[in-house]
Amino acid sequence: MKKNNPEWLGPDKWLQLSNNADETRVKAALSTVSPGIKEFAALVSPAAANLVEQLAQRAQVLTRKHFGRTISLYVPLYLSNFCSGGCVYCGFSSDRRQPRRKLGTEELKAEISALKRKGFEDVLLLTGERTPAADFNYLVKSVKTAAEVFHNVTVEAFAMTSEEYEKLAGAGCTGITIYQETYDRKLYSKLHRWGEKRNYDFRLEAPARALQAGMRNVGIGVLLGLHDPRSDAICLFQHVVQLRKKFWKAGVLVSFPRICAQYGDFKPGYEVDDRLLAQFIFAFRICFPDMPLVLSTRERAEFRDGIAGIGVSRMSAASRTTVGGYYHEARLRKDATPGHAGLRKEVTARSAGNLEKGQFDVNDTRDAKTFCSAMRRRGLEPVFKNWESVFRGR
Ligand code: SF4
Repeated sequence: MKKNNPEWLGPDKWLQLSNNADETRVKAALSTVSPGIKEFAALVSPAAANLVEQLAQRAQVLTRKHFGRTISLYVPLYLSNFCSGGCVYCGFSSDRRQPRRKLGTEELKAEISALKRKGFEDVLLLTGERTPAADFNYLVKSVKTAAEVFHNVTVEAFAMTSEEYEKLAGAGCTGITIYQETYDRKLYSKLHRWGEKRNYDFRLEAPARALQAGMRNVGIGVLLGLHDPRSDAICLFQHVVQLRKKFWKAGVLVSFPRICAQYGDFKPGYEVDDRLLAQFIFAFRICFPDMPLVLSTRERAEFRDGIAGIGVSRMSAASRTTVGGYYHEARLRKDATPGHAGLRKEVTARSAGNLEKGQFDVNDTRDAKTFCSAMRRRGLEPVFKNWESVFRGR
């Protein structure tokens, strides 16, 4: 019985099948009405790299059918860069020397006002692993403050218990983002040198706990480049399938963070070029036509513009990865003489540096207005609000 179920095969077997797939199998996957793991393995295969155009066409049709011409926008807000974690690839790891800070209530309000003035209604609050300075209570308080102003508040932080997720939802949080980073246990243990995040299973089960506790949606993903990208993509696919099967009323989102430059000397083990990243996005779209697919400002403007609406349906814009980055930017810009290009340039550069380093380098540095104009030029409509705060609650 089990052997007849395609999910019975382990990820290694699927990876092998993917690596051995030929163009005939890719074409068969493209014409399957309800593709599953077998088709996904073919769509992310090396053989499918020659058929990326066909994947793109299919992905665009499905994206248009389920999301129209809209791109929903969100913005990340870094609450704190304190972290007790030791992720070898991250600029916030506790062994990295840099100024640490967290937003106080008034500073958070200033950040929120700066983002509201830009038109944002959907905010993702971020912190590192728990520390006494930025703990669970601090996070709950920050969610409450943000939920008074924004229609949609989600959190990307440490893995929590069911009770904590319940409290967070009660404070006005509608969803969480939590990446497994890599599904390879051995590598996971090597990369996460200390801290709570070392607990692979506790993190793996966090999205299910959050949905069980009343969150409306969860965003999952892997940090592409840490491990064999095809292997991680296949595991991510299986994780999505499990969550959607169990929590069919909730939303699952998939993000595609690709490892990029950060403060430190970590060198990723695998290269994920633009073509492979695009192939993965198209494969997820083809297999999950109605699932929001997310792309952040880690990626270059040209790549983001090219892929918007083809597979991706949700994007961050005008992001700062420093604590207090938006308020600093607003204040410095105000000080700049209007029309004085040289001074404005200097202000923007200072603002981007903002004393401490960000978690990673932002590659698409456009402001919200410029980004939205670029989307409209491509026939897409950026949507700042697609959720109403009155629907909050369990
Ligand atoms: S990835 Fe998260 S947990 Fe790891 S060091 Fe960075 S902020 Fe801390």
